[in-house]
Amino acid sequence: MNVFIINAHPEPKSFNGAMFRTAEETMSAAGHSVQVSDLYAMKFDPVSDRRNFTTVKNADYFKQQIEEMHATEVGGFAPDIEAELRKAESCDLMIWQFPLWWFGVPAILKGWVDRVFAMGRTYGGDRFYENGVFKGKRALLSVTTGGPAEAYRPGGFNGDINSILRPIHRGMLRFTGWDVLIPNIVYGPVRLSEDERLASLEAWAARLRTIGNEEPMDVGEY
Ligand SMILES: Cc1cc2nc3c(=O)[nH]c(=O)nc-3n(C[C@H](O)[C@H](O)[C@H](O)COP(=O)(O)OP(=O)(O)OC[C@H]3O[C@@H](n4cnc5c(N)ncnc54)[C@H](O)[C@@H]3O)c2cc1C
Repeated sequence: MNVFIINAHPEPKSFNGAMFRTAEETMSAAGHSVQVSDLYAMKFDPVSDRRNFTTVKNADYFKQQIEEMHATEVGGFAPDIEAELRKAESCDLMIWQFPLWWFGVPAILKGWVDRVFAMGRTYGGDRFYENGVFKGKRALLSVTTGGPAEAYRPGGFNGDINSILRPIHRGMLRFTGWDVLIPNIVYGPVRLSEDERLASLEAWAARLRTIGNEEPMDVGEY
């Protein structure tokens, strides 16, 4: 299997950094082909503008989706975007490793989506959801939080984690055709003991070793 892992944490020694390396090492050791985008390490530029393209459709008025469709037709994506598109297009499983920031993905990862999931190349026409461009590929969020698990239950302090992740699961991933796997969530790693953190890393590795057997989840109307 071809695996593509994105890491969106600025500190290599963080728990997210450990989760990222665990995924990379586990999938490589299992014989899979692994590509990574460690967004902070590669200084990925999250600002979406004309620099997404080497081509120009309309020099007077920048409308991103028009430029995206043009770039799709003529091969006009900037090299950094083209490289990310190819990683997504060539993988069977994509993993996003990130800390929950303001109930969402860190800006660097949001910027990755804004720039890489381009109209024409990754969605559009009648290619959405079950007919999406990434049909048949699987995507998995690996998330950490600051708050404890009970804060993210339905009716809890912060509300249901599934509702919080829905814009990502449905609006970004399922929208573009990915089959979405159940997220891997480590609640409040800073609150855990060292042994509990090590157990979380081991559980993550164990899950990844059999990830090929997992069925996608329903990202419907929750
Ligand atoms: C801008 C911003 C917005 C935020 N918004 C939210 C929010 O909306 N909701 C929410 O719940 N939280 C929020 N948070 C908190 C954030 O989600 C957590 O701080 C984060 O998820 C914790 O993960 P980490 O990798 O940064 O942990 P770290 O603090 O890096 O790590 C936790 C502990 O694990 C240890 N560790 C590292 N590597 C290993 C290893 N290999 N083995 C064992 N232990 C290890 C570290 O030394 C540390 O003691 C926000 C934080 C920021 C900065």
